[in-house]
Amino acid sequence: MFATRFAPSPTGYLHKGHAVSALTAFTAARAADGRFVLRIEDIDATRCRPAFEAAICEDLAWLGLDWETPVRRQSEHADDYLAALGRLEADGLLYRCFRTRREVAEAMASAPHGPMEVFRSGPLPPDEEARRLAAGEAFAWRLSLDAAERKLGGFAGLDFLEEDEGRIPARPELGGDVVLARKDVGVAYHLAVTVDDALQGITHVIRGRDLFEATHVQRLLQALLGLPTPAYRHHGLLVGPDGRRLAKRDRAETLRSLREQGMTPADLRKELGFG
Ligand code: GLU
Repeated sequence: MFATRFAPSPTGYLHKGHAVSALTAFTAARAADGRFVLRIEDIDATRCRPAFEAAICEDLAWLGLDWETPVRRQSEHADDYLAALGRLEADGLLYRCFRTRREVAEAMASAPHGPMEVFRSGPLPPDEEARRLAAGEAFAWRLSLDAAERKLGGFAGLDFLEEDEGRIPARPELGGDVVLARKDVGVAYHLAVTVDDALQGITHVIRGRDLFEATHVQRLLQALLGLPTPAYRHHGLLVGPDGRRLAKRDRAETLRSLREQGMTPADLRKELGFG
């Protein structure tokens, strides 16, 4: 059965760009007589706030959306992510990375091909790793692209269906050796999303173009974890009056403030092309 989702992180109020994502997914689910799932991506307790989650639900209901219950909250499912992480580790696909964010940024800035080069450090020599572990230093788990490539015999066979465009070869190397478990949070975005999309039976991932590169990484994780691959639709992004992509910092464009200024859901749907 067709199933899609809207997966906001409760780190701020929803803006018009979120409304486009939510309406695109919701409309597709209704047209297919399928499921529409709201997932709260709140693994990062340092940035997420329950008040924002409540506001998200309020704003979506105001827009005229309804969704399946109970809503999946990532903060309540650490076991699922740790199980997936354990499988990847047992398969020799992960390594410990002790670098701080700043050290990673510095390494990237001095990379031979410039700062745009993706991060691929590989594991430390065993004795240095043992020494740092014994000293109690915190580490993140990174996915080793080299190990993944060996396990799959290369990435040539990996692709995904982009609706309207056809099959696209996945290029997971775009993301480098991504972090799958953060030092501070214990799990990272790509792993939680990949596991949840599979557990929730998502057949169509509908989200903004800003997450196109994420799809290449998540396609690799699906292959490594033996999970099904949904179809994808990456919709265009709204830009603000200054030509920049809308972000949570653009307070004036939050659905909440538009509502306070007297905009109706029908006005907004029409403006966004869902009238
Ligand atoms: N939680 C992510 C965000 O708010 C979206 C994840 C996704 O759609 O895969 O940007």
